[in-house]
Amino acid sequence: LFAGQSEFVKGVVAMSGLPPADRIEVCFAGRSNVGKSTLINALTGRKGLARASNTPGRTQEINFFTIGLEHYLVDLPGYGYANAPLPVVEKWQRLLKQYLSGRQTLRRAFVLIDTRHGVKSVDEEIMSLLDSAAVTFQVVMTKADKLPEKEREKVLAQVREKLSAHPAAYPELVLTSSEKGDGIATLRAIIANLT
Ligand code: GDP
Repeated sequence: LFAGQSEFVKGVVAMSGLPPADRIEVCFAGRSNVGKSTLINALTGRKGLARASNTPGRTQEINFFTIGLEHYLVDLPGYGYANAPLPVVEKWQRLLKQYLSGRQTLRRAFVLIDTRHGVKSVDEEIMSLLDSAAVTFQVVMTKADKLPEKEREKVLAQVREKLSAHPAAYPELVLTSSEKGDGIATLRAIIANLT
């Protein structure tokens, strides 16, 4: 589906550092520990590629990867750091807003939600930010393997209900398990088909 290897391009801390907008772009957002690095590694087929984003110092950067020859995959820092000092959080929120509302080539945001936890208030904050920036977002449920189907359905109902309040939300959820490989091909196809 995607020709060529994924590569880490750069970590960006200011709008001036963004790579040229010469590829279609998708970004991934989610609370810390939601399974974002694992998912990005599964998507790109390269173990350890997204680990860079989780190393100290890298966590406040917007990390750019190539996926195939035509797309950028953008790893947004994990949100919901209770411990980060306020100025750091504010700086990052400013950059995030600027990026989301100013990036011409950004086609879709994927908001990752842990299947065990459902939508939390910080997830809603990101969703509202995406609404304001008019960036279509699609929810990707992670770690689907961790919950029996019956409980999973309850969480999915909660997520759908929350999404109905967000104009920028794409209604269809993607269920994934990086552990089992579920949903990875679907997600790749979704990205490959964005124009
Ligand atoms: P990040 O902070 O969002 O980048 O989260 P990580 O990718 O580092 O994942 C956090 C933890 O969840 C790690 O221990 C992963 O092994 C685990 N994890 C991630 N994805 C899955 C999954 O699909 N299934 C299961 N069972 N565990 C997962």
